[in-house]
This record gives sequence, structure tokens and C-alpha cells, in this order.
Amino acid sequence: MRFIDVHCHINDSDYGDVDALIKNIQAAEVHKIISVGFDLPSSEYCRDLAEKYGCVYFTAGLHPTELKNYREGDIKKIEKLARHEKCVAVGEIGLDYHYPDTDKPLQREVFLKQIDLAQKLNLPVQIHSRDCAEDTLNILKDNADKFTAGGLLHCYSYSVEIAKEIEKLGFCFSFGGTSTYSGSKRARRTIAALDIDRIMTETDSPYLASKSKQGVFPNTPESIPEIAANVAEIRGVPLEEMSGRLWQNAHTLFKKLR
Ligand SMILES: [Zn+2]
Repeated sequence: MRFIDVHCHINDSDYGDVDALIKNIQAAEVHKIISVGFDLPSSEYCRDLAEKYGCVYFTAGLHPTELKNYREGDIKKIEKLARHEKCVAVGEIGLDYHYPDTDKPLQREVFLKQIDLAQKLNLPVQIHSRDCAEDTLNILKDNADKFTAGGLLHCYSYSVEIAKEIEKLGFCFSFGGTSTYSGSKRARRTIAALDIDRIMTETDSPYLASKSKQGVFPNTPESIPEIAANVAEIRGVPLEEMSGRLWQNAHTLFKKLR
């Protein structure tokens, strides 16, 4: 079988020996991973990994909680990275209202600028959204015509109803380790309700360990088969077939995967 992690953060400060990590990931039948940038240095680091390892692809983008040092010219730098042949999406971008002291107008401004950038480059977006379902949905609706290359809601955790609204706009959804816990009823219900072609698997490594690795840090893309098996079980589809679908779904959205 072939598996893919569409959203993880590989960095040497968490993993030390990245060579060994990549070997372990491949031994677990995870043949491709998308290492996601969240600011300029991490996006550059992910590009370097993608140049070094055939199985690594990357995204470039400014995460809503990483805007303390934001400057106007940063979007130009993200654009340069996003034009790289192995940069498959602009991301992760979005909104995050979790911390009360956050600058919401700035988050919104930078999110919108990066949506424009994705449209300009005809790239999909990878969206992060936490504690702001309504504002996210409104931005996606108001800018629906700009997502010409589609997009992914990563680590989706809102209600089924909101997922169905976002699905109508053409988006895909990825689910990670938290969806393997029996307590995560919303994620399980959403996995059951979505069109099967809209579902992908991610780990958000080094965060969000799956059930069998509860409490382990750093998490790694090696947990993708466990997450895929959970999706397969919820959908009542054999794992062999589900892994093929998950692989295909990722390649349909992220056209620069090859
Ligand atoms: Zn992430």
C-alpha cells in the first residue's frame, strides 16, 4: 500500500536525525509527505528538505499565530518559495482566535493576501482554522471565486454542518491522529458525512499523536497507516482500497505532487 501525509512539520530541532526519520517514514509505507511551512524560516527549511529528499514536498505560508515579525515584503518572499517545483500549496494560512491577545485584523489581512497569492499562482491553499468557524466560513464564502485551484482544511474539527457548507465551496478536509480517539465524535461524524473524494490523511507532526502513541512527542508521519485504517473503518471500505483513494485524493488536489 501507499500512504501520504498531506500536512506535517518536519524540523531538525524536534527530530534530530532527519535521515533516519525519512527512512522510518518510508518503511511505514508512507511514500510522500508534505512538510508545511508556518513562517519564512520554516518555509525555507521545508524547501531545503524537499530538495534533499525525493519523498518530501512542501508548502510556503504565514500561519496566523506567527505574525509577530510580519512585514509587507514577506508575501513576495512566500511567492518566490511557492514558485518552487516542489511547493504544492500556499499554507498554512488562516485564522486562529485561540489566544485572546491576537491581532485579528492583521490575521485577516495576511490571510486574504495569501488567498490572492494562491489565486495568482493557481495553487491550492492549506488552511488552519481554530476557534473561529464563523469568520473562516465567511472568508471562504466571500472569496469562493478565488480558490481556482481548490484548498484543504487541515485537521478539521468543527461541526458536520459547517463541513458540508465548506465542501460545497469545493474544499477538501484532512484528518489526523485526534480522529483515531473514540471520544472524537465530531471528526468521526464528519469523516462519515463527507464525499469520500474530499478526505485526506495528515499527522500535523510533531503534534497530535494518534491513539496508539498517545502522549508521545514528537509524533511522526509513521502514524498515517493507523489514521487511514480508522478512516477506512468509519467509511466501511477495505484499507487497501481506502489507501488508494487517499493517495488519489491528495494527487488530485496537489497537482505538483509527482
Ligand atoms: Zn500544522
